[in-house]
Amino acid sequence: MLKIGITGGIGSGKTTICRIFEVLGIPVFYADNAAKSVMHSDALLRQDIIKGFGQESYFETGELNRKHISSIVFNDAEQLARLNALVHPAVFRTFDTWVALQSNVPYVLKEAALLFESESYKMCDRSILVKSPEALRIARIIARDNITAEEVRLRMNRQFSDEKKEKLADHIIINDEDLLLIPQVLELHQHFLSLSDDH
Ligand code: ATP
Repeated sequence: MLKIGITGGIGSGKTTICRIFEVLGIPVFYADNAAKSVMHSDALLRQDIIKGFGQESYFETGELNRKHISSIVFNDAEQLARLNALVHPAVFRTFDTWVALQSNVPYVLKEAALLFESESYKMCDRSILVKSPEALRIARIIARDNITAEEVRLRMNRQFSDEKKEKLADHIIINDEDLLLIPQVLELHQHFLSLSDDH
């Protein structure tokens, strides 16, 4: 099964583009949502998190104590890397299981905000980078999440720059106000269909 990773900076339009691929019948694995759910569902990961970040990482009810975890990893790159080193392998396992369940589809997409940073692009056959001007991304996120420009910038700082990602990406989708998304997605879709024939 051909696996295509798709990423882009915060507010670049990854999810919007994935919805278009879904309309074309392509299954999408949302790695960032999976990362949240494995912290609840993966027993091994739960043990590792408790070991690494304390018993108070989970409430007695079993729910994840997000506030506790965020207070440790927010603004501390080393702690965040430590958490990611635990969470990412669990997400990779979930992705592999999910891929094995897909049938009769030419290819699948994996949407991940940190596709390059987490090195998970190495497990994909191709990668797509969604690019969008920074000012537009900030305006979209402020409108979507009701947060300040400063908070958006903080989140942006945790990702590689577009220049760095561009060097690693196989394909680029531009999501600004001038270029239409659907023709760009259709062109890539055709390309991946022909790749999957050879696969
Ligand atoms: P995040 O990294 O925060 O998950 P994302 O890259 O997945 O963001 P989206 O959620 O797809 O980005 O888009 C951010 C916001 O911008 C959404 O509210 C979406 O509806 C809007 N948006 C994205 N692309 C366009 C577009 N081409 N035209 C109009 N609105 C758009």
